[in-house]
Amino acid sequence: MATLGALDSLTSKLREIHHLHDAAAVLSWDQETYMPAGSGAIRAEQLATLQTLAHNQFVSREVEALLCTFLDSETGILLSKHQDSLDDTSQALLRETWRDFSRAKKLPSAFVNKLERECSIAQQVWAESRQTNDFQRFLPNLERLVGLKRKEADYLGYTDSPYNALLDTFEPGVTVAQLRPLFAELRTHLIRLLKQIQHSPVQPNTSLLTQSFDTTKQIDFGRLVLKQMGYDFQRGRLDLSAHPFTTSFHPTDVRVTTRVFENDMPSCLFSCIHEGGHGLYEQGLSTQHYGTPLGEAISLGIHESQSRLWENSVGRSQAFWQYFYPKLREVFPSQLGGVQTDEFYLAINQAEPSLIRVEADELTYNLHIMVRFEIELEIIEGRVQIDELPEIWNAKIEEYLGITPSNDAEGVLQDVHWSFGAFGYFPTYTLGNLYAAMLFDQAKKDMTDLEQNISQGNFQPLKNWLNKHVHQWGRQYSASDLIQRVTGQPLTPEPFIRNLEEKFGNLYQFPTSFSSKTST
Ligand code: ZN
Repeated sequence: MATLGALDSLTSKLREIHHLHDAAAVLSWDQETYMPAGSGAIRAEQLATLQTLAHNQFVSREVEALLCTFLDSETGILLSKHQDSLDDTSQALLRETWRDFSRAKKLPSAFVNKLERECSIAQQVWAESRQTNDFQRFLPNLERLVGLKRKEADYLGYTDSPYNALLDTFEPGVTVAQLRPLFAELRTHLIRLLKQIQHSPVQPNTSLLTQSFDTTKQIDFGRLVLKQMGYDFQRGRLDLSAHPFTTSFHPTDVRVTTRVFENDMPSCLFSCIHEGGHGLYEQGLSTQHYGTPLGEAISLGIHESQSRLWENSVGRSQAFWQYFYPKLREVFPSQLGGVQTDEFYLAINQAEPSLIRVEADELTYNLHIMVRFEIELEIIEGRVQIDELPEIWNAKIEEYLGITPSNDAEGVLQDVHWSFGAFGYFPTYTLGNLYAAMLFDQAKKDMTDLEQNISQGNFQPLKNWLNKHVHQWGRQYSASDLIQRVTGQPLTPEPFIRNLEEKFGNLYQFPTSFSSKTST
């Protein structure tokens, strides 16, 4: 049939375009891991060429014509004559490709070029400004970027707030109106829990984690944990980079990185587990749908749910360390020989206000996100003066965490995101935490022996469950549809709060009020 032929042509065209993105991703991975420091400038040009080629091919008449064989050229709605002949998978493929296509088409290429150039320059200026603790230096670049991002929102179109257009890039379908009450509810519980922890007589001895740990042995242990989780080293590898990340060129080539510090043992370990969670998602995507939206992750929030599930729900659980602690102690007998499992478990679950987001614990992390969400919303809606951001930032950190940055490097300048124009990105971290708790709760319901399996180092059932319920679908479902399908309820902070309450209530020995109605 002609229509099926057109669908095949579209798929192979998308795959071809994806090869360009994958080639660019290999270059980016190399840039972060092995590239000599002196080749930064030419690498930026090489990447720009590949990305421009991919963009031009994607917004081409050829792709448009193939899409419009099936879809209305104005609205992207499926033509009625195809409604019965195309299965759900094909319809999802067309729907998601149209989403990407129409968004890409809305941005004039001169604008995209200008934005990319500004981002590239702003990132360098930001790095220097952070190093010298000089916000004024970054200010003109940030002001220009904010102007461009507001323009981008105008091009993309939005209802209610321009921020929604930017948020939609990272977490399709989520809006400010949805986030505000969600975060407000979460905040109330987090602040209450934090107060209870701070008033607890139990306090962890974290100095045991900052002894001297051989870095090669740390990396080997991280590799061991990754293997046990089911991360496939035949289809992946582990390297070192300044900031840990995961990248994928195909489900058969998914690479993770970590970093390692002699006097900060949890950093390497939990980076491995976190990136391993991202890596399992990428390795679990469909090879059949590679190159199309159905072979891609749903959203940043769902991606982060996979890393957070492994890092926190699994990697910071008692069951996990029941299995792994004796092994860790064997690797580091002089450092951990006298440390009991419970003492170690408490130390890796310390919760206390701190200034740096990437070092924050499972609980306070979300308060850091709320601060950023509120500020960037005001920025994009034009309700703040950019030159007043340092003061605004410090006041909000004081309000949420009760501490004040002593300089802008540990305040408003600490994150890279705004410098590459990623406004609307931060909320996906907290959404990831909430999705993770919902999914892990459901996994426990579906597999009553899950915890027992984890305590025996058997992670296969959990990995299979995630493969089946999350990974294999790609973008067939939206994030909200997937969560509803898998857990039977819409996005809610309840499982996340309940789990924190139970865990920290036990660790820090305070009564758990929130869970009492459900735990009898
Ligand atoms: Zn992550």
